[in-house]
Amino acid sequence: MKSHIYADNAATTRLSDKALESMIPWLTGEYGNASQSYSFSRKPKQALQESRAIIAECIGATPEEIYFTSGGTESNNWVIKNATLNKPGNNGIVTSQIEHHAVLNACEFEKQYRGRRIQLLPVSKQAIIAPEELINAISPSDGLVSVMLANNEVGTIEPISILANIAHEHSALFHTDAVQAIGHIPVNVKELNVDFLSSSAHKFNGPKGIGFLYIKKGVNIPPYIAGGKQEMGSRAGTENVASIVGMAAALEENVQEMPVIQERLLHLETLFLSRLDTMDVTYVRNGAPSHIPGNMSISFSGLEGEAIMHRLDLMGISISTGSACDSKNTQISHVLKAMRLEESVAKGTVRISLGRYNTEEDVEAIAAAIRKIIS
Ligand code: PLP
Repeated sequence: MKSHIYADNAATTRLSDKALESMIPWLTGEYGNASQSYSFSRKPKQALQESRAIIAECIGATPEEIYFTSGGTESNNWVIKNATLNKPGNNGIVTSQIEHHAVLNACEFEKQYRGRRIQLLPVSKQAIIAPEELINAISPSDGLVSVMLANNEVGTIEPISILANIAHEHSALFHTDAVQAIGHIPVNVKELNVDFLSSSAHKFNGPKGIGFLYIKKGVNIPPYIAGGKQEMGSRAGTENVASIVGMAAALEENVQEMPVIQERLLHLETLFLSRLDTMDVTYVRNGAPSHIPGNMSISFSGLEGEAIMHRLDLMGISISTGSACDSKNTQISHVLKAMRLEESVAKGTVRISLGRYNTEEDVEAIAAAIRKIIS
């Protein structure tokens, strides 16, 4: 067995070799500031253009619709805080109970400091947001609907295009936090019919601290970070060329290899669960059949997910109990609560999220380790 098995890919992923290689020139000799007009800046400027084009192509957008940010948290905050600044009469926000805290706490901020009305849509026991819930909740005072494309704790994929159509029928803008989906399932912004989409490179084998926000052409959102003229005057700050290039390389690689990786991850899931079955381990898998491949939320009723996670850690296996951002919070996660899991089941929940570098040997070892801990 390997000395360390990493199975928390929904928290972050290993940088791919291709992404690392693509970054090196921009961290070494080609350190020019991409916004300068002299010849030493020509290559970094071109690298930014090429990266923007690669990313746009991967999600069915045009390069002018891609804005580089520091990651998912910033992209989400930009939309939640600014998308309806120009619409004082209809600045209410409708979102869901299972969003990442980068959305929920940005909404809480808006409620507290700007007095906005925030509504949280409930979810089904499989964490699906029913379109009827949005139809019932939305009113003319709401200017923005924000629903994640895939949930980070249970992997459930949401019916985004249907929800976006409803928002548009009510003259509201639509944002999706696609941080867990990009690079893992096919994403096309036109098919999804969204106005904004957030993404983060470290979730798809790119570097940390970099991401992008898709803003549909013609949609007007005030700049988030004021300063220089970078990112078409909408997001100031010297461009992080190496990370942007690494992000584009990682996304391109994941999108090209997606069918193969998806099939492998679904095979590893099946293998893992069948091992638990043959070892007579009793468990419940949470979430919906339509989910991010490799993301498994598993409950062992009556046991402590926290304790299982720590015992696995001692055995050299990294998994989590919920989202990484919740790892200091030992209470039941807001997602499992929204799914109305019984407390004893919710407390015994762990998230095992497999990625492109996991092997059959890894999942066999994780299943055996869980069996040992439980017995
Ligand atoms: N949104 C979702 C669904 C996430 O899973 C995460 C990270 O866990 C974020 C947003 C935050 O992204 P970042 O780490 O790039 O700030």
